[in-house]
Amino acid sequence: MLVVMQEGAAEAQIQAVIDRMVAMGFNVHRSTGVVHTVLGGVGPMDEFDPAAFEVMEGVKECHRIMSPYKLASRSFRPGGTIIKVGGVEIGGPKVVVMAGPCSVESEQQIARSAEQCAAAGASFIRGGAFKPRSSPYAFQGLGEEGLKLMRRAADQHGLLVISEVMDHTQIPMMLGYCDVLQVGARNMQNFNLLKELGKIRKPVLLKRGISATIEELLLSAEYVMAGGNYEVILCERGIRTFETYTRNTMDISAIPVVKKLSHLPMVADPSHGTGRRDKVIPMARASVAAGADGLLVEVHPNPNEALSDGPQSLYPDQFNELMAQLKIIAPAVGRTL
Ligand code: PEP
Ligand code: MN
Repeated sequence: MLVVMQEGAAEAQIQAVIDRMVAMGFNVHRSTGVVHTVLGGVGPMDEFDPAAFEVMEGVKECHRIMSPYKLASRSFRPGGTIIKVGGVEIGGPKVVVMAGPCSVESEQQIARSAEQCAAAGASFIRGGAFKPRSSPYAFQGLGEEGLKLMRRAADQHGLLVISEVMDHTQIPMMLGYCDVLQVGARNMQNFNLLKELGKIRKPVLLKRGISATIEELLLSAEYVMAGGNYEVILCERGIRTFETYTRNTMDISAIPVVKKLSHLPMVADPSHGTGRRDKVIPMARASVAAGADGLLVEVHPNPNEALSDGPQSLYPDQFNELMAQLKIIAPAVGRTL
């Protein structure tokens, strides 16, 4: 259920509504918007009379949320959510670019990457230290040592850090190095991991599962939010279809669909979305044109020597070219870069 308080409702009025919701068995999540305070009630009860709340003092309206996800629903925060990380705002007018190699491989590789990505205008460096590889014999990542190298390189160039968390036991250590924790496609429905991420107070970037519906993506976001962490960034990264030409099918349509259904920021990963370097730039352009709040792009100083995802990693020159094109596209859809 959702209770929207009147503009300027008194704290005592808000508290009275919260008390009543709690007495009825709801867990209450409070969202303080610019104008209205919204109280989201998550609980066992579907049958209640919204009018019982609408007659309470200070209440503007009350309704049931029909979607299975409540806190992730657009109605919880109709104006949208802006997530602030360092000096960067995700979900605001600026399209936020997160770029870097698939994996952190060496001190030199991540230092070069940070230098090149920062020069091109990225806000974040990405790089996996724990890699979810299809084969157990493939490079599995440098672990904490990789995060140390990436944090140092990022700090030298004023970048923020995003990296993938594969297991809940890695969370406390990773919080010391990362500004945003990424949940990979394979872990989108690792509900224990999502619950643990609900307890932290740093943003989580949640990738759409390889064969997940949009509703399942939003329900996974709901797991994190139900734990009290409202800072969830969603990410379209391509889904598995019958098409084999590309590694995945980049579902550009998911971007406007999610923007309508949810208030959460939505970014796009055209690298995993296509798996082919020559298709990354067109899909990145299309994602921004479709309303993505940001991009997650794989860029490598020398893709031919990459230990993972070389074929889909952009050369630094290509990344520069993409950024130049986005500077033209973003303003055409009311955004900045
Ligand atoms: C990655 O970002 O390198 C990655 C493994 O992504 P995904 O979980 O989307 O496959
Ligand atoms: Mn990758």
